[in-house]
Amino acid sequence: MLVIMKNDASQEQVKAVIHQIEKLGYRGIPIPGLQRTAVCIVGNQGYVDDSQIMPLDGVKETIRVTKPYKLVSRETHPQPSTIKIGEVTIGGKTPVIMAGPCAVENEEQALTIARLVKQQGAQVYRGGAYKPRTSPYSFQGLGEEGLKILARVREETGLLIVTEATDFDNIELVEQYADIIQIGARNMQNYALLKRAGHTRKPILLKRGLAATIEELLMSAEYIMSEGNSRVILCERGIRTFADTTRNTLDISAIPSIKEVSHLPVVVDPSHAAGKREYVIPLSRAAIAVGADGLIVEVHNDPPHSISDGRQSLYPDQFANLMKEIQGISFKV
Ligand code: PEP
Ligand code: MN
Repeated sequence: MLVIMKNDASQEQVKAVIHQIEKLGYRGIPIPGLQRTAVCIVGNQGYVDDSQIMPLDGVKETIRVTKPYKLVSRETHPQPSTIKIGEVTIGGKTPVIMAGPCAVENEEQALTIARLVKQQGAQVYRGGAYKPRTSPYSFQGLGEEGLKILARVREETGLLIVTEATDFDNIELVEQYADIIQIGARNMQNYALLKRAGHTRKPILLKRGLAATIEELLMSAEYIMSEGNSRVILCERGIRTFADTTRNTLDISAIPSIKEVSHLPVVVDPSHAAGKREYVIPLSRAAIAVGADGLIVEVHNDPPHSISDGRQSLYPDQFANLMKEIQGISFKV
């Protein structure tokens, strides 16, 4: 349930509503908006009796939230959310491009790629220091040394850093270095990690699981938001289907489907969807055309020698083309 406050409701009145909600055994999360403040009731198993809430000063009305996710829902927050990090706004009028290697391999590689993608207009640098690999014998990432290299990338280029926390143990370190913490597809339903991500002050890039429905993705975002972190960016990165000419199938419908029911920004990862670099530009065009708030793309200075995901990594000149091609696509009409 949402408690909608009157336009002129005071902070004290909002606090009194939250206090009453707590007395009823639930939690009240204030959601300030441009026109109104609402308080979202979470923690209820079903019907909430509003007879002790409605009479409180400053309360305008109560609205039942019909979806199982609440804080993520447009019913709770009708306007699209924008997430501001430094100079960058995700969910604004222009798509935000995040680019870089799959994994940080060494300082020279990381900086070379960072300079290239920065020059072409990327605003965020991606690169894994902790890598979730299918095989335990594959390169698992440089760990903290990789995070230190990412910090040097930020220092030199001014790019923001998005990098993955793969478990409960490394998220604390990742949050010290990252501007955006990625939670990968394989961890989308790692509830302990999601709850922990709800306690950080850093925004979270939450990737859709390999076989997750949109509702499951939104429920995972709800885990993060219900712990107090409202800065969640969703990422469509392809799902498992019977199609076998790509690594995954980019669910292009996910973008309008999510936007219909949720206010959260959605970015697209065409690289892990395609698995082949030659499909990355067409999928990127499609993603922007359908209303994605940005892209997260793998780029490498020497893809054939990349330690991970070389086959789907763009060459620098391809990334330059991608940036040109998406310029012409009308965005958010
Ligand atoms: C990645 O971004 O490098 C990655 C491992 O992505 P995903 O979790 O989508 O597979
Ligand atoms: Mn990768």
